[in-house]
Parts: sequence; C-alpha cells; structure tokens
Amino acid sequence: MKTVLLVLLMVGVFGAAAGAAVWTLRASEPPTDERGASPSKASAPGSVAPTKDESMSSAKAGARKISRAAYDVTPLSKSRVDELAKKLKPEEAAVILAKGTERAFCGNLVDNKKDGTYVCRLCGLPLFASDAKFDSGTGWPSFFQPFDKDHVAYEHDNTLGMERTEILCARCEAHLGHVFEDGPRPTGLRFCLNSVSLEFIDKGAPWPEASRPIETQVAYFAGGCFWGVEDRLQQTPGVVEAVSGYMGGRTENPTYKEVCYENTGHAETVMITFDPKTIAYKELLAKFFRYHDPTQLNRQGPDHGEQYRSAIFAATPEQEDQAKKFIEEQQASNPKFKARKIVTQVVGAQRAGKFYPAEDYHQDYHAKHGGHCAMPEDE
Ligand code: FE
Repeated sequence: MKTVLLVLLMVGVFGAAAGAAVWTLRASEPPTDERGASPSKASAPGSVAPTKDESMSSAKAGARKISRAAYDVTPLSKSRVDELAKKLKPEEAAVILAKGTERAFCGNLVDNKKDGTYVCRLCGLPLFASDAKFDSGTGWPSFFQPFDKDHVAYEHDNTLGMERTEILCARCEAHLGHVFEDGPRPTGLRFCLNSVSLEFIDKGAPWPEASRPIETQVAYFAGGCFWGVEDRLQQTPGVVEAVSGYMGGRTENPTYKEVCYENTGHAETVMITFDPKTIAYKELLAKFFRYHDPTQLNRQGPDHGEQYRSAIFAATPEQEDQAKKFIEEQQASNPKFKARKIVTQVVGAQRAGKFYPAEDYHQDYHAKHGGHCAMPEDE
C-alpha cells in the first residue's frame, strides 16, 4: 500500500491567517482536525482531507459517503471506472488514467476566467470553483482550495525524482495534478491541475446528472445546549450537515446574547441536512431522544430556561405526523418513560418559523475545541 499523506486544508475558515493553513506534505501524524465553521458550510468545509484509504474502507463497509456539499463521493468500483474510461480520448487517458502531465500553457482551461465550476472529466464530480482560481503563471490551471474537501484525495508521489503530493478525484481516482505549498491566501496552497482532467460548466448552465448533489432533507431538533446535539448528530451516518442556531421564537436574526438574556422565545436548535436513503427521519428522532432528556421541562441538566427546551420543529406535515406518533409510542411503550412524562414540543411545519444560524463561534464547537457534552453512547 502506498503511503497516504494526511493533509489539513483550511478551506472553510477564511478568517484564519495564511500561515495557519497547515499543510504537511511529509507529515507522519495527522494535524489537528478542524471542521468548517460557516453556517453555509456546504461548499466550504475545512478538515483533515479524506484519504484514499479512509474512503475505500467506508466503501468496503457498504456506507454511502456523502460530502458536506451533499455529493455522493462513495468510491466507484473498478468496473464502473473502466466503463467511464471508455469515453476518454487517448490524450485524456494518458493524464487521467496513466498519471501523465500535459504540457505547460497548452491546456484549454489555463486562461479561462469565466464564472463556473470545474468538474471531473471522468466521473463529473465538482472539484474546483472559479472563485478559487488564480493566475499562478505556471501554465497550468491553479486553485487555492477545492470545491469541497471531501471531493479530492491525496497520495504521496515520489516519481521523476521529486517528492510531491498527487491530487486525485475522491470518487473515481482520476489523476488531477499536484498540490504545493506556495499558493496565495487564504490557504497558502496551489492546486496545480491538468486542464484535460477537468470539464468546465458555465455558471447558470444546466449541470449533468453526474455533477448534481444528492437529494437531501432537513430536520430541526432543540434539545438543550446546541453544541452537544450538533456534535453527536454531525457524526451520525447519513447526516450530511448539522448547524447550530435558533428557532421557534418571536424575533428576527437573534443573537446568542439576546436568546440568553431577552425574552425572544427562541430555542437553541440544530438544523440537520440528511440523506434519507441512509437514515430515516424516525431514526433521527430516536437519536435525538437518546441525546437529550425529553422529560425535562425548559431545561437540560444545569442549563435552565426556555432556550433549552425540548422541541421538534417539523419541516413538513409528514415530519410533524411522524414526530407526534413517535412520542406517543415512546410514552406508551418505552419503560424509560413509564413514570415520566415526555414534554417535547412538536411544532408544526406551518408554525415552526425560520431557523437562524448561530454565530460562527458556536458552529462545530466540540470539533474545534474538544470535549463533549454528557450524553449516552449510541446503542
Ligand atoms: Fe472523478
């Protein structure tokens, strides 16, 4: 097995200084993980880059791997890659399959300054966006960050007497180019691409099926301090993204301070984006009930007040029905609730109101700062 390098891409946390964009080309230890913090994290996560080995092991386990941008990045089988490769022209195959390099200043995308997205020529996965492209003067298309950290994989390359880090499509393993540490802010990275490995889709043009995200659904759960609920749900297979925020109150654009000290009526709430083919809403309800105590009224442990109430904000009438039914079943048949009344509010889709993402410093709190809230382990 080839040595797989572990790389930290600071692609979501743009507030970080370029010097903090840790890039360990020859690291033997993984750098500290730091998940993306922006509420619009879908296209801008930051984390330890996925390695080929990690991706392959999840595929072996049969799990569908979904990126934060909601793309299915489960590694394709060899037979599927072989099938896709039939469409390649010889000069494309020489780079994409045989890891060749096109000549500098010869690629058709070097000087492309149009707005749009660069997708994998072999499998269609979005890899880079025009807003991360810069003129490196090298003669190859250059970017300072990928479209999504989970869309690119890395491998140590010591061919041609050089020590380099190869970049590959995380889904089909197409050779894309190499990444270097001499890029511009905010990441300090230069992803050096072969034009032939990419296809460009103009902004506003229809995206082919292979370049589209999966269909996801959203759900909203309030179960006390959002740090812990977000942390646990984010780690749940099938959950694409978990965002901390405020919901269910009377004021617009509430701040944390207002929610704590003013009578806003908002509850600390976690918005989940999930893949319904991997996890059903009912399974999320069960997780939510495991991660908090639905019998505590307007509190969770030491946290007192309406902002810590237990609530389910339904995104659809179907979710509302399922949530009510789930609570009835739990109250009637779960011995845990035999002598304790479930007080969780179910707020219908019509009344749930708007979800307001919390301040950046609340997002991914435990992933960034360590620690965890006291919650039962999964069964
Ligand atoms: Fe690909």
